[in-house]
Amino acid sequence: RKGDFMDLEAILNKEQAEAVRHTEGPLLVLAGAGSGKTRVLTHRIAYLIEEKGVFPSHILAITFTNKAAKEMQERVAKLLPLESGGVWVSTFHSMCLRILRRDISLLGYGTDFSIYDTDDQRTLMRQILKERKIDSKTLRERAVLSQISQTKNRGGNAEDYRKASEGDYISKLIYDCFTLYEEKMKKNNALDFDDLLLKTLELFQDFPEVLSRYQERFRYILVDEYQDTNDVQFRLIYALAKKYQNICVVGDDDQSIYRFRGANLENILSFESQFPSCHTVKLEQNYRSTAPILDLANAVIAENPRRKEKKLWTEKKEGKKVVFREYESGEEEAREVVKTIRGKGLLYKNFAILYRTNAQSRLFEEQCINWNIPYQIVGGVNFYQRKEIKDILAFMKLMVNTKDDVAFRRVINVPKRGIGDASLAKLEDYGVNLGGFSLMESLPFAKAAGLSGKALSEIQKFEEMVEGWKEEALDTLIERILKDTAYEADLQSEGAIEAESRMENIHELEGKLFSYIRENGEEASLSAFLEEVSLLSDLDRSDLTEDKITMMTLHGAKGLEFPVVFLVGLSDGLFPSSMSFGNEEEMEEERRLCYVGITRAEEELYLSSARRRMVNGQSQYFKISRFFEELSDELMEKNLLFTPKRSEEELFMEESGRSYYNSYLNNARSSILTYQGRSGGGFSGGNSYGEKRAGEKKNVFGSLDSLKQSGLLQ
Ligand code: ATP
Ligand code: MG
Repeated sequence: RKGDFMDLEAILNKEQAEAVRHTEGPLLVLAGAGSGKTRVLTHRIAYLIEEKGVFPSHILAITFTNKAAKEMQERVAKLLPLESGGVWVSTFHSMCLRILRRDISLLGYGTDFSIYDTDDQRTLMRQILKERKIDSKTLRERAVLSQISQTKNRGGNAEDYRKASEGDYISKLIYDCFTLYEEKMKKNNALDFDDLLLKTLELFQDFPEVLSRYQERFRYILVDEYQDTNDVQFRLIYALAKKYQNICVVGDDDQSIYRFRGANLENILSFESQFPSCHTVKLEQNYRSTAPILDLANAVIAENPRRKEKKLWTEKKEGKKVVFREYESGEEEAREVVKTIRGKGLLYKNFAILYRTNAQSRLFEEQCINWNIPYQIVGGVNFYQRKEIKDILAFMKLMVNTKDDVAFRRVINVPKRGIGDASLAKLEDYGVNLGGFSLMESLPFAKAAGLSGKALSEIQKFEEMVEGWKEEALDTLIERILKDTAYEADLQSEGAIEAESRMENIHELEGKLFSYIRENGEEASLSAFLEEVSLLSDLDRSDLTEDKITMMTLHGAKGLEFPVVFLVGLSDGLFPSSMSFGNEEEMEEERRLCYVGITRAEEELYLSSARRRMVNGQSQYFKISRFFEELSDELMEKNLLFTPKRSEEELFMEESGRSYYNSYLNNARSSILTYQGRSGGGFSGGNSYGEKRAGEKKNVFGSLDSLKQSGLLQ
């Protein structure tokens, strides 16, 4: 079709262009990894605006992470000569959050509700278990929360849980805790992550005029990674798209890897029957990987019995053969992987080390530190879950949502104010009798509630302090909180180095606040800031400019791409996880995860396993992963029990590195976890693969010197 303003054929293949041009009516793009699904979405947004004259504000695009959302927004902006700012590009959660901020009062909540992360949920549930005198041997808070989440992901409530359960002793307890949890959440004016979706759905169901407003607004809806949506997400999409039916979803059933979080593969498999007028496009050319990598990926996933057959081919016929190496031990595996990276002389950002579980990062981290190689671990301990960050945010939350008892309890004795459980219980009871007052709201009645002496005076000071902060300008708020609470002095009691790294984190939060204020100008508000950070994960704290190796779990790597990938820990029992043994569905999911891992690689792929590794402090022996055991030698070069030679230099580095590493880990580790990675959809500029590291040949003593300078190596 000539006459388009945008020359789609120049930047997309025939099928991709077809998907972009099919703007009216339901569209499913079902295609394998690296075939340009995400790229289709960004071009489609640009096309709608540029060619079809659709208002940016009539478009809703949903991505899997906030980071992907941000990149999609940037990418679209690049494709368009004019403003595209009005497009809503967000995750399901942030979309729902925006909707609820506006309309949740219809459901009886205040619009300044708090959002509880897993940590807050656990705190609340522990409190509930304590109140109900259920000890942790009978029922753990995680077990209850997991049942609650599973129920909510299917769109259910406590009643639904009760009906579906066996009615045995434990499920009765869970039902009781579930009910109480919901009551307390409502009283605290708080929502958990699952609630964000669920309450939005409730809003749409109970208030058709609200739904209708959003149906009019979002006339064009696009969803990336559709294979990992859950039931509630499907219903949200279905409701929103019902009127105009301009819904485009892209995904790959072979990459559905979030079943444990409620993802339902049925959503993508039955899309055509849910939307009968659906048009389907298949993409078959892979632009990401070389032929050897793609052949391996195809061979691995072919073992899954129930799947939609897909063919993937690539023009990159030339390519290095995939290498599989089995090492003697986990330590040796890590050492050799890092050695291979050192030997390549490429920029570090070309490399990703992917593993099944976060705990596996340790050995690789140790090697990077030994050799003074910059790296970043994505995931692991979430920045926003650190104690100091949660403390500061809890102070801020209290200013916004006075009903938040979890935030109150978190900080009432930070630093220690000597306000004991008994005093808090009195205050709480008094507040309840006043008519459902929260702890913060009950503070003015502390005396009447029976508090006296130090507890009373400290409570009064606390109240004045928090009141006082309301006058403070947003950009100086964190400094003020630190000063008024003498927070840093309190941290010092944990030790100077620990305190320093925690203060660094707080300053990073402050930096985040500053840039938020810069970006939002007049519009900036504390509640909107809290909202923004509440949904962020480590994956979102990216810095694409830094030259570092990326280490992350396979789950975290979804949608991303790297020139050289190391898939490590390919031992049977580790990956696939022994938890999937004997369970067909789980095994299939593990295999899909493996497919996701392989297809992250652009140019080179290294697979490895260790025959012996430490598990829970014990040495265990492993066979190589069943996913690779029976594959033919043509697909990869297999080296079983590969024994590398080690140079004097390496032996020396190991000796000296270990002591450094140990002290380093204890001290500074928490402050260096940042994220960097290249992501798919053509987000990154040029391919940096092949770019050499400048002045890279550092000798051993050079790096040892730097260890000494840092004061951590005697
Ligand atoms: P995944 O399943 O892993 O999410 P995907 O299908 O979303 O992958 P993209 O990430 O969109 O694939 O694309 C993979 C890579 O191929 C990107 O670097 C992208 O820029 C590139 N690519 C896609 N289509 C084309 C094309 N027509 N021409 C050139 N490069 C392309
Ligand atoms: Mg993608």
